[in-house]
Amino acid sequence: MKKKILSAFVATVMTMTVLCGCGSAAAPAADNQGAGEAAKETLIVGTNAAFPPFEFVGDDGKPDGFDMALIKAIGDEIGYDVQIQDMEFDSLVSSIGNKIDVAIAGMTVTEERKNMVDFSDPYYEAVQAVVVPKGAAIATADDLKNLKIGVQLGTTGEFIADEIEGAEVSAYNKAVDAVNDLNNGRVDCVIIDKNPAEVFGAQFSDKVDVVAGENFDFEPENYAIALPKGDTELAGKINAALKKFKEDGTYDSLVKQYIEE
Ligand code: GLN
Repeated sequence: MKKKILSAFVATVMTMTVLCGCGSAAAPAADNQGAGEAAKETLIVGTNAAFPPFEFVGDDGKPDGFDMALIKAIGDEIGYDVQIQDMEFDSLVSSIGNKIDVAIAGMTVTEERKNMVDFSDPYYEAVQAVVVPKGAAIATADDLKNLKIGVQLGTTGEFIADEIEGAEVSAYNKAVDAVNDLNNGRVDCVIIDKNPAEVFGAQFSDKVDVVAGENFDFEPENYAIALPKGDTELAGKINAALKKFKEDGTYDSLVKQYIEE
């Protein structure tokens, strides 16, 4: 994004042979457009493609899922080519404005994150859930005390687990690794967002149960797109696209395709 300014900037910097990693890598990608077609700016979007059904690696080896479809539709709507960068969830917020332009990753709006980034309007309401070994007697907040709890690093699931009395928390880069350690008996339960919990619940249906977060008094969470702080122009465009998609059925059809199926 901001292609023209950046091209000039890159040209200047190259003559100084100091090509810093800051700014978007958008300019070269946008220049690869076919002749005759107006070059679109590129929006570099960070995600962590290990959070189904919102993002996962598809059969073609590329990130796929609800968030990927949503951000591509938004890009089309507001005139950007979307380029996805798969990275660790925990690095997304700090990469906005340098390695990536925005992030979409089933990311919950939190006050702490708002100190570093802005958020679009929320696009999905979620809640944490608890994945437990099949038949385990883990059903209330009290039952979580003093357990070994697996979480995904840097997520709201981790923040919740850290508050549980006596809990021994293990944080994994990928949620599925936490679930694998649950299946190996290394942790007693996994706290993770409801939708991926259900995906893992179905994947390992002979081994685990998923207990809804309401049983533990977990608060609802809102997913939103994380944006560079102060970029009200981009925020306005993205929010307008989200609003349009909620009104014209695009949003509902993506929910049906990726989340309800
Ligand atoms: N919603 C959770 C969070 O924002 C988890 C997101 C994720 O793991 N991709 O922390």
